[in-house]
Amino acid sequence: MNESEKLFEKAKTLIPGGVNSPVRAFRAVGGSPLFIKSAKGPYIYDEDGRQYIELINSWGPMILGHAFEPVEKAVRDAIQYSFSFGAPTRKEVEMAELITQMVPSVEKVRMVNSGTEATMAAIRVARGFTGRDKIIKFEGCYHGHGDSFLIAAGSGAMTMGVPDSPGVTKATAADTLTAPYNDLAAVEVLLANNQNQIAAIILEPVVGNMGCVLPEPGFLEGIRTLCDKNGVLLIFDEVMTGFRLAKGGAQERFNIVPDLTTMGKIIGGGMPVGAYGGRAEIMNIVSPAGPVYQAGTLSGNPIAMSAGLAMLHYLNEHPDVYSRLEEVGNKLTDGFRSALLKTGLNYTINHVGSMFTLFMTERPVTNFSEAKSCDLPLFGRYFHAMLNRGVYLAPSQFESLFLSTALTDELVEQIIQANEESLTEAI
Ligand code: PLP
Repeated sequence: MNESEKLFEKAKTLIPGGVNSPVRAFRAVGGSPLFIKSAKGPYIYDEDGRQYIELINSWGPMILGHAFEPVEKAVRDAIQYSFSFGAPTRKEVEMAELITQMVPSVEKVRMVNSGTEATMAAIRVARGFTGRDKIIKFEGCYHGHGDSFLIAAGSGAMTMGVPDSPGVTKATAADTLTAPYNDLAAVEVLLANNQNQIAAIILEPVVGNMGCVLPEPGFLEGIRTLCDKNGVLLIFDEVMTGFRLAKGGAQERFNIVPDLTTMGKIIGGGMPVGAYGGRAEIMNIVSPAGPVYQAGTLSGNPIAMSAGLAMLHYLNEHPDVYSRLEEVGNKLTDGFRSALLKTGLNYTINHVGSMFTLFMTERPVTNFSEAKSCDLPLFGRYFHAMLNRGVYLAPSQFESLFLSTALTDELVEQIIQANEESLTEAI
């Protein structure tokens, strides 16, 4: 047994499933997860000293590569002043100001500690603002592990109100209605059948959590219009897409203005941070400005704010980051496409900017049921073939890959080569 395997065996006796977040356990692809010791730039290193090229990047935050110097320095500097005060700080004001500049739909913002907290709070605010109880989410969209969001099974209205996880009450589940992604007609039906009852529609404006799935032309615009017609708040969950698909996130890229936005991942530069914000009129109902309660002992933590501020400042001041990420994304997906042609496979690649997924299916993937048509055993073999060649992919078909600016052209070529060999080996 190698070090990772030994650690996993021990971890399983102490931690449920041996991990602190399920997808890390490699359940979907088989085998034992790598236990990671360190990371720098485009590389991650496991406990056995092996080096891998990173295409997960901590599930998104490390957009500039690992241990990016300005972020590292900001954390080192901040530590001198102690770790937590539980009182307001200058950095929180700076952070709020920077976010509102980068994401103009956000006029006021509240910092929290994770994406899950952000979405839970955003829904509470939407309910408080509209005086309505129900929400609409899309099958296959993940918004963290809050009770209201663990509902996605089956096909839209047919199965609405059925919890996906034991422990979520039927009453909670009944307030979450689901529709297939990219299906405006299904949303219209839900709105018609629940008039004056829907507080919010929440969605990933580009989905990362069923693999990368793009909004079809007109879908986001259509949702915006339906929200306006029905007095429903539109919540963009930009935990993955925020500061990634553009400086101002997917809302900038697709030119849609949501009422509320949830953020996470990049905003903390690798530290545990989330945020939710939107129109001042809505955010002003949050305590202590208004009656909707939400709080946090470590919210706005000075070390986390320092890391996040260094990250966001860099992104704000270096638009070349985004052009480079487009270039890397295009080069990689072109290379993957030519490998598919060579191997005679007609599989689907969904791609936008620095997010993409190779789906092991010949069908286009525009929603969760299409994503589920993938050949999962083939994905598992492909994943391990890539890992053996030193490329660290997300250990599930239903995830997007996240690129970073640390990927050089040479590394891009290595990944393309590994992909071609891995496909040939796996099929
Ligand atoms: N929303 C989206 C779109 C996510 O991708 C995630 C996590 O991956 C979350 C919310 C939850 O964020 P966290 O894991 O920080 O709680």
